[in-house]
Amino acid sequence: MSALAAKHKAINLGQGFPDFPCDRNLIASVNDAMLQNHNQYPPMIGIPELRNGIAKKIHSLHGHLYDADSEITITAGGTQGILTTVLCCVSPGDEVVIIEPAYDSYRPSIELAGGKAIAVSLNVLRDNQGRVSSYEIPWDQLKKVINSKTRLIMINTPHNPTGMVWQRSDLNKLAELVRGTNALILSDEVYEHMVYDGAQHESITRHPELVNRSFLISSFGKTYHVTGWKVGYVAAPAALTKEFRKIHQFNVFTVNTPMQFGLSQYLSEPKHYLNLPSYYQAKRDFFKAGLQKTGFKLLPTPGTYFQCVDYTGIKSPQNKLNEADFCTWLTTEVGVAAIPVSAFYEKPVESGVVRFCFAKQEQTLTEALNRLQNL
Ligand code: PMP
Repeated sequence: MSALAAKHKAINLGQGFPDFPCDRNLIASVNDAMLQNHNQYPPMIGIPELRNGIAKKIHSLHGHLYDADSEITITAGGTQGILTTVLCCVSPGDEVVIIEPAYDSYRPSIELAGGKAIAVSLNVLRDNQGRVSSYEIPWDQLKKVINSKTRLIMINTPHNPTGMVWQRSDLNKLAELVRGTNALILSDEVYEHMVYDGAQHESITRHPELVNRSFLISSFGKTYHVTGWKVGYVAAPAALTKEFRKIHQFNVFTVNTPMQFGLSQYLSEPKHYLNLPSYYQAKRDFFKAGLQKTGFKLLPTPGTYFQCVDYTGIKSPQNKLNEADFCTWLTTEVGVAAIPVSAFYEKPVESGVVRFCFAKQEQTLTEALNRLQNL
């Protein structure tokens, strides 16, 4: 969709990345690090300053204290953290439970490890006109598929693409399902600081029972508007981290040094991540207000920087198209790119829902809304 958007000069609300610059102070911190000659290999597990900062931050936000030396590893973004987690604990034939729609790296990572992806789909709830109104975790289905063969369960909150967030009660239900099994959990929380309306991000680290069997995945790219830097981290109990690092050492070895120094300095100021919910909530509300005037039905967005919409009620006849064709039409004819939610399923599930990214400057959102107004 990004290539199509570029070809047709469409506004790209498809791919999830900000179109505004990151804080210049963050760039200055990285620059300083380079000028101070922090340009050689860092320790394989990441520089202590950054790992200590992460441990402190998680402790202050969620009350769980990871040991920075034996439980936190700096990765080349969230995606590498996910792949390395899967490679370190999934062996050929192992079952890995994923919940679709799911981030597109999950299934290939499982297959690369020789594992078997067992996918369950979110329940799609509809209003009385048959339009999608929200999603629900499919607990009955999860109960059926989680058993002694389950090696890993991959969860994601706040959730890409739907924007839904897990509640404390959801973590409790998951804890019930895994009790008595050997299943490990990968908790993808790269959108951890994009939770709105005063709600709490229910990190796996807030659940003392689950955290003991979990890998926490996070990404600085999302939090500090630097998706191209590809720096993130994985936190997990020492025994799991030990296995993780056996793979990390040989598929990445180290993550670039000046970025780690720059990020560690920036991380020491909590306001840089504490201000994020209100910053993005304003963008969400601005975009939602504009979309209210169109024929799209807006789905709730309690988290992430994605807004999903049901297009089946818009005025144009294209409301009957499947999601991929609708996005192609929207990009080429209306001039705004979106992503079909069906792309996040292995076998596309057609719900008439597409995803917009609102991590954009107000000017970009305004121009996109102008183009969408007649729908
Ligand atoms: N998980 C989810 C759910 C994501 O949406 C993304 C980025 N699109 C990632 C992980 C990967 O993050 P990174 O860019 O740091 O690899």
